[in-house]
Amino acid sequence: MADFKVTELSDEIDFQNLPYWDVVIIGAGPGGLAASLTTAHRGLTTLVIEAKDKPGGQPQFLYAEKKIVDIPGFPDGITGEELSERTYRQAVEALVQFRFNEELVSIEETDQTANDENLKKVFTSEGSFLCRKVILACGLLHYPRKLPVLDQLESKNVYYKIPKIGDYEECTVAVIGGGDSALDAAVMVLQRRGKVSLIYRGENPRGQAATISRIKELGGEIHLSTEISSAEFSGDHILLKLSTGNELLCSQIIVQVGFLSAKETFEKLDVRLNDDGSIAIDPYYETSRKGLFAVGDVHGDIKLIPVAWAEGIQAAIHAFKEITSPYWLNEKRLRDLKITLIGEKITQAAISQNKKK
Ligand SMILES: Cc1cc2nc3c(=O)[nH]c(=O)nc-3n(C[C@H](O)[C@H](O)[C@H](O)COP(=O)(O)OP(=O)(O)OC[C@H]3O[C@@H](n4cnc5c(N)ncnc54)[C@H](O)[C@@H]3O)c2cc1C
Repeated sequence: MADFKVTELSDEIDFQNLPYWDVVIIGAGPGGLAASLTTAHRGLTTLVIEAKDKPGGQPQFLYAEKKIVDIPGFPDGITGEELSERTYRQAVEALVQFRFNEELVSIEETDQTANDENLKKVFTSEGSFLCRKVILACGLLHYPRKLPVLDQLESKNVYYKIPKIGDYEECTVAVIGGGDSALDAAVMVLQRRGKVSLIYRGENPRGQAATISRIKELGGEIHLSTEISSAEFSGDHILLKLSTGNELLCSQIIVQVGFLSAKETFEKLDVRLNDDGSIAIDPYYETSRKGLFAVGDVHGDIKLIPVAWAEGIQAAIHAFKEITSPYWLNEKRLRDLKITLIGEKITQAAISQNKKK
C-alpha cells in the first residue's frame, strides 16, 4: 500500500519535556536527515543527535564545495553544502529536533514501557534520552585520520578537511593521500590556480583514473611510493622532506588519508556485526537488537547519498509501522514469523470472541 500521507507534528508540543521520544536518530548525515523527515512527517516526535556542530554528514564536511552531479532532480548539480542545508531546513520545518556537538555513547534497554513496549535509553556525551526506536545513521567514517609528522607543527596551514579558499594563486599545496577525496582536493586547487604536489605512499592511487589524468592535464605533480619523512617551518612555508630524498616547500597541506572508523562505537552497541565490522541488518534495516535500525554507510555496500536517503526513509517507515500497529498485525512480523503462525493467533482470537457472543 502506498505510504505518503504527511501528518504534521503540532508546534504546540513541548519538546523539552517529552516523557520519551518516539524516535531518536544518531547522525545528521543524508541517512539520518531523510529518516528524520520521514518519521516527523508521520507524526512521530523525532530527536537527531549529531557529533559535529552542523548537519549534513560527509557532503557537508568532506566535499561541501564539490558539485554533486548524480542526485536525481538536480541536472545542473548541487554542492554538498547546499544539499545539506536544504535537507536540514526541510527537517527543521517538519519539527525534527536536533542536538549538535553531542555524541552517542551507548543504548540500554529499560523497564519503562509505552504501549506495552519497553523503552530504550540513549546515552550521549551530554545526557540521556528515553525513546521507542533508534535509527543509527552515523556513517562508517568518523574523524579524519591524522599524520603525526605534520601534527607536531601545529600549523593552521595543515588541513584535514578541504579548506574554503577561493583562489590558490601563488600557493603551492601538498595534497597527501591517494583516494578520491585527495584526488578531488588536488583538482580543486589546480582549478583555482594553485600548484599541487600529490604525495601518496602506495604505488597506485586508489581514486578514479580519470581524476588522476585530470590532475596531470592541469599540471599537478604526482609522487607515488612516497612518504613524508619530516616537516619543519621555513619562513611562512612548510618544508617537507620526502622518503625519496626530495624536498618540497609548500604554503598549505591538505591531508586526506582516510578516517578513524566508527566501528569502535558499533562494538559498544552490542549488535551483530558483519565480517568487515559494519553493522549487520535484516531486510527491514533492523539490527540484531529489536527496535534498533541501521541505515546508510554504517552497513551499506553501495555508499551513495540517494542510497542513504532511501534506507533512512525505509527504516523510518518500518519503525513507524512497529510503533503504530500491534506486533502481531505488523507487516514485518507477519512475514518474519510466518503467516501461518499469526493466522493461528487470529483464528483463535476470533473463536474466543465468537464464544463470548
Ligand atoms: C570524497 C567523497 C565524495 C563523495 N561523493 C559522492 C557523490 O558525488 N554522490 C553520492 O551520492 N555520494 C557521494 N559520496 C558518498 C556519500 O557522501 C555517503 O554515502 C553518504 O554521506 C552516507 O550518508 P550517511 O548518512 O550514511 O553517513 P554520513 O554522511 O557519514 O553521516 C553520518 C553523520 O553521523 C555523525 N556521527 C558519527 N558518529 C556519531 C556519533 N557517535 N554520535 C553522533 N553523531 C555521529 C557524523 O558526524 C555525520 O554527520 C562521497 C563520499 C566521499 C567520501
